[in-house]
Amino acid sequence: QAVQPPREKTTKTECPYCSVQCTMNLHEEKSIKVSRYSVTPNKEDPVTDGRLCVKGLNAHSHAVDDRRLRYPMLRIGGTLSPITWEDALGRIRSEVTEIQRKYGKDAVGVYGGGSLTNEECYLLGKFARVALGTKHIDYNGRFCMSAAAGASNLTFGIDRGLTNPLSEVPLAKCIILAGTNIAECQPTIMQTFRKARQEGCKIIVIDPRETATCSIADIHLKVRPGYDAALANGMLKVLLEEGYVDRAFVEERTTGFAELEEHLKKVSLAEVAALCGIPPQLIVEAARIYGAAETGMIFTARGVEQHASGVANVRNFLNMVLLTGKIGKPGCGYGAVTGQANGQGGREHGQKADQLPGYRLIENEEHRAYIAKVWGVPEESLPRKGVSAYEMMESINRGEIKGLIILGSNPIVSNPNAALVEEALKKLDFLLVIDLFESETAKLAHMVLPGSSYLEDEGTMTQLEGRVLVRRAIRPLPGKARLDWKILCDIAEVLGKGEYFRYTKAEEIFQELRIASKGGKADYSGMTYERIEQSHGMFWPCPEEGHPGTPRMFENGFAHEDGRARLAPIEHQNPKEVATRKYPYLLTTGRVLQHYLSGVQTRNTSELNSKYPEPLLEIHPDTAGEIGLVNGGRAKVTSKRGTIRLKVKYSAKIRQDTVFVPFHWGGDQCVNRLTNPALDPVCRMPEFKVCAVSISPN
Ligand code: SF4
Repeated sequence: QAVQPPREKTTKTECPYCSVQCTMNLHEEKSIKVSRYSVTPNKEDPVTDGRLCVKGLNAHSHAVDDRRLRYPMLRIGGTLSPITWEDALGRIRSEVTEIQRKYGKDAVGVYGGGSLTNEECYLLGKFARVALGTKHIDYNGRFCMSAAAGASNLTFGIDRGLTNPLSEVPLAKCIILAGTNIAECQPTIMQTFRKARQEGCKIIVIDPRETATCSIADIHLKVRPGYDAALANGMLKVLLEEGYVDRAFVEERTTGFAELEEHLKKVSLAEVAALCGIPPQLIVEAARIYGAAETGMIFTARGVEQHASGVANVRNFLNMVLLTGKIGKPGCGYGAVTGQANGQGGREHGQKADQLPGYRLIENEEHRAYIAKVWGVPEESLPRKGVSAYEMMESINRGEIKGLIILGSNPIVSNPNAALVEEALKKLDFLLVIDLFESETAKLAHMVLPGSSYLEDEGTMTQLEGRVLVRRAIRPLPGKARLDWKILCDIAEVLGKGEYFRYTKAEEIFQELRIASKGGKADYSGMTYERIEQSHGMFWPCPEEGHPGTPRMFENGFAHEDGRARLAPIEHQNPKEVATRKYPYLLTTGRVLQHYLSGVQTRNTSELNSKYPEPLLEIHPDTAGEIGLVNGGRAKVTSKRGTIRLKVKYSAKIRQDTVFVPFHWGGDQCVNRLTNPALDPVCRMPEFKVCAVSISPN
């Protein structure tokens, strides 16, 4: 019998990782026994010009990995054992019903993720409020974009990550990249910034480390962690005093100038320079370049945002945008560079404790009435506002939440003060985790359900520009795994709420999401899968079917009722922990090129994990010398909350008072065992980016 040649199939999909959402072609070579996969970039991708980074090139590996969860698993005698879906759903019904009977509806919480599709984010919010009737829902995106979202809402009246499409970056004559390491976190858009530079743009990078992104910098402001608002105050003072204010723009389109001017008069550049650890002349030079540029853009990311003053920090950069009138025009704008795949969409559709779909507010009576009508439930049945992600962990620790359902998230690794989080989760009467692998959090679960990967799931994702893309399912689910949204519907069914969750495909959920978002700030009502696919994505707001979408925001006005943006005086606040004799160094955290979030997917991808298998303590050689650390040796790092032990990596590119550790690992290597859970008063973002530590040889 003739041997059949392998069959090859090529399908278009999107990378499941960062917020660029690069499109790619997945090639499957299928012979009788095995399938081999490979990936090539989509040359027609208008955002990346056909580029993929190492994560995207290897993204399929985890999805086809044999270690994927394939069956529902119940913990029996300390071990997870396979059970049927029928048994799993029956058990969920009895556990949830019993907890809610004994302790009330709010005793069960829901914890989501920023990598889920828009349909799943929407459904998770509805599931919590309608199927469980609990106020407790929040997600890991609280740690991603909440500070930028809070600042944008206060300043512009609306929060869309990038106010302009990335295609306008090369039109800018000055770009400030504040606390964003694009070269490692969103590598495929680096070429857009390089292009801007080739066309004469000056690039200013603000970061305590000389990251790979500094390869395109004209000026690097190596700021002390936690002093971003002070730095912005210094730059604002120069802009004001040296005549770079766009008076007409400020007069016509903003409020609050007089207060800001008064505040800036009191700012001392010498003090700012001392706080930031940057020569004053460099601050002046950076401000002059931005002020004098005809066009300009400012981008912020977690380096500025993950602070207990994150909202204020971002607002001060927005003050710079407004003062110089650099917004609402080609090559002029602001962007919060999202980290997670659907960091933008994840926060628009009701997954946050304080929000309903379309960015509606859960405490606004009109908004509640509208959503209750869309969902077909009595308005009074909708729960009120719950608490933020980390505060949920504290509520669990206090015994107020007894059951938790987690979808697509690994909170033990991603929350600050991770030891408390672990302690809290161990106290739960019932912990249900839906994931692809047995993550650190799943290892504590009473039950684990096998969910869907990006190759099996269908739905829309909103990438960092605010561009909505459709991702099609291209592979069957492994074993008995189910689609994430289907699992939510199945649980709703056994809880007696199935009538509100009757969908046969993701597109039906999207149809409902369109109605739910109509008239809200993030309005998707004019989009259909067909329209999105025809135009390589559509930008919201898109309020009706004939509407082309909105690539550039604020051309004619801002979203506050009076159409004006808000300038605001920002007083610098020191970080909640500063260096002391006992804890003399500052710890900051971040990402590396090879890993994504808490590493559940990338640590299970050998091509990626082999290149960066463990977290390294990045430390200046002079600082290491003072402590007695050797390159490649081990160090013990201690904060007020815990101790971890790490391998040492010398780097002359980091400030001498600061050390850096990536956050993609759990257990004894989890840097979030050290980080500070002090929260921003507006958005409840924890202060991941700076805490005081002591370091010694291990
Ligand atoms: Fe593109 Fe980000 Fe995926 Fe890399 S990780 S391929 S930049 S979407």
